[in-house]
Amino acid sequence: MFAENEGVTTIPPVAEVRRRRVVLLGATGSIGRQCCDVIARFPERFELVGAAAGSDVDGLTAVVERFGVARSAVLAPAAAISRPGTMGSGQAAVCEVAAMECDVVCVAIPGAAALAPTLAAVDAGRTTATATKEVLVMAGELVKARAAATGARILPVDSEHSALWQCLRGEAAGSVRRLVLTASGGPFRERDPATFAQITVEEALRHPTWTMGPKVTIDSATMMNKGLEIIEAHFLFDMPYPRIGVVIHPRSIVHSFVEFIDGAVVAQLGVPDMRVPIALAIADGERLPGIAPHVQLTDGHPLEFFAVDGDRFPAVDLARTAGERGGVAPAALNAANEVAVAAFLDHRIGYDGIVPLVAEAVGSAPAVVTPSLEDILEADAWARDFATARLASVVSPA
Ligand code: MG
Repeated sequence: MFAENEGVTTIPPVAEVRRRRVVLLGATGSIGRQCCDVIARFPERFELVGAAAGSDVDGLTAVVERFGVARSAVLAPAAAISRPGTMGSGQAAVCEVAAMECDVVCVAIPGAAALAPTLAAVDAGRTTATATKEVLVMAGELVKARAAATGARILPVDSEHSALWQCLRGEAAGSVRRLVLTASGGPFRERDPATFAQITVEEALRHPTWTMGPKVTIDSATMMNKGLEIIEAHFLFDMPYPRIGVVIHPRSIVHSFVEFIDGAVVAQLGVPDMRVPIALAIADGERLPGIAPHVQLTDGHPLEFFAVDGDRFPAVDLARTAGERGGVAPAALNAANEVAVAAFLDHRIGYDGIVPLVAEAVGSAPAVVTPSLEDILEADAWARDFATARLASVVSPA
């Protein structure tokens, strides 16, 4: 619609893009800091209106001051908050921030602690961009049912699931044959399994391609991370477990791919930089310029793919089986894994003790069909107690 005026064509101003109001849960962690980077780079596109952190009051205060955040909260109940009146503490305060009026809630609180805030965001009907796979692992059915009730959408931030989202955009669900998650294989892809008992925390924390928080870095070393991501993909994309595959791709350039029924395979490639999936999620699928440099495919390094060795990485099948069992089995898997990884990071068990401990907990988990939130929390607590008790018997034998 151009207006003619004395022979000059004037173009009406482009409708002003309203800034997207972002609530960021887990603002001081690895994903949270990168989300802050994205928001700071596009002040005309994003406004951080709410923020929460686990226990880092100083870090959260810095975020609040940097972005002029209206409301904030620290998860730790007795935290000495810095801004009474606008900063709260405890789970209820974090859930209030999660439910704030906004355009997108980015969930980057690690682990099971993100469940209640995620449900608060979903129940308030907020578009929820989640980086915390544990929430869908524990309570995928419940989160999806409650999102369906309020119309809340759940967007992936996890790089593999963001890749699948990108590959699936515009495609009919019926044309998808299989989703394939790529995995770097972590630092022990080629290490002799006979030496796994000697792996140190420092070695396990040295991820070859991604820089991440300690929990997910250990999960990447055991490949439990990929197992959890199978369950995450099942819920995010409504895909049956037999149609979700995993391949090892050490360079982490191909972030995942989709096989279609006609034989076509569509992949998403890029340098390993979490700011790309973070920006895409908080912008609701819109691409922003210059988030990361382009990958150079002519640099002489081949893109290689390998099948997963189930003996070296038993966590993948363990998680898949727990997912297929359903009920509270994935919640038990997740909780026992959190305990086992923490024990390893704390030098209380060896690297080779992590997955067997989780397997034992999953094997003993009760069978519950269509679990309620209470059932899930009960299974989570049960698995933590179970794993902790087993650890006590391992660490201090009678
Ligand atoms: Mg991932």
